[in-house]
Amino acid sequence: MSQQQKQHPQIQDAPSELGSFRAETIQVLDWNIVNKARVDDSVLLDAAKLLNMAAHARESALPHHSNFKVGCALKTNLPAYSPNLSGANSEYLGSFSNATTPIPLVNAQHAEESAVASAIKFDALGRTVSPYGKVYITMSATVTAAPEPSPSCGNCLDTLKGYSQPDTYIVSGTITGNLAVIQHFEDCAPVHFPEILPEWLPDRELRLLQEAKIAAKSGFVPISGDLSGAAVLTSKEIYRGIRRDQADYHCSSALRTAVDHAFCHTDLDINTICYVSKDGLPVGKDRQTIYDVANALQAEDTLRLLLYSTDEDKIYTCSPRELLPFGFGACDIGLESEVQATMSKLREGA
Ligand SMILES: [Zn+2]
Repeated sequence: MSQQQKQHPQIQDAPSELGSFRAETIQVLDWNIVNKARVDDSVLLDAAKLLNMAAHARESALPHHSNFKVGCALKTNLPAYSPNLSGANSEYLGSFSNATTPIPLVNAQHAEESAVASAIKFDALGRTVSPYGKVYITMSATVTAAPEPSPSCGNCLDTLKGYSQPDTYIVSGTITGNLAVIQHFEDCAPVHFPEILPEWLPDRELRLLQEAKIAAKSGFVPISGDLSGAAVLTSKEIYRGIRRDQADYHCSSALRTAVDHAFCHTDLDINTICYVSKDGLPVGKDRQTIYDVANALQAEDTLRLLLYSTDEDKIYTCSPRELLPFGFGACDIGLESEVQATMSKLREGA
């Protein structure tokens, strides 16, 4: 046990919002850290130092639209800390006309993306050969002012994943009460789900799978060559979604297209979403889409997902929450009532 903790022992139950997991909360420096990764004191001390760095980086955030400031700091397997391994979020408003208000939000760079870009710039990431072997992120810490620790969104998990290992630590902190949670990357974006046999599927879901397979062959993928497809089953209809590559590499995804296809028809009673790809695993950004939609439908635990791997010819199943267990949702930025009001308005107009 570190000297710091000998002087300041503080053990308490984790807040109930953090799930059924009964973890101990340990005070390290100024932070109360819920130790979900069951790590030792030296790792917790690193987490507290990184949280302080992230809190400092957060001060330079420019979230013009949301006012939701986020700071992020990274630690790599290189021995020294660097002040350059941090970043903050920024948002971009756009209108090419002379219109004044409201100016639409067109894009956002998240703190994790900013921190990773900064780390690459200072040559602290991405090198495959260094005196220490492959350089990768061992810990990412983010800090917000949300009432509870806000986990990295699906998109940021994608950003981190390219430079992380399954056991990379993801630390989410809030300056409210200086509470933080530490967990492993693989727990934030799991890759193992129960298999389901085709003969167990009802006819409408077998049709859904067929439609998603057709969509996987219909993508416009001259750049990525990614043969993924998706289909959404509502109480009325099946909607396909294809992937479409773009020269700026901001490609559309099959899964998001399928969901948007259903929304275009104001057909919001989504029961099942089927995704087809080589490994059947949606990327983080798609997991975020599923979580957001399930959140709007209040179906994080009930919406059914069918994930088909073309490589294995196997179907796996899970819920949106199992796909993104610590999903970042509207409630994290205090917009849950606005989301529900929008859903009610759309349903009334349907
Ligand atoms: Zn993010």
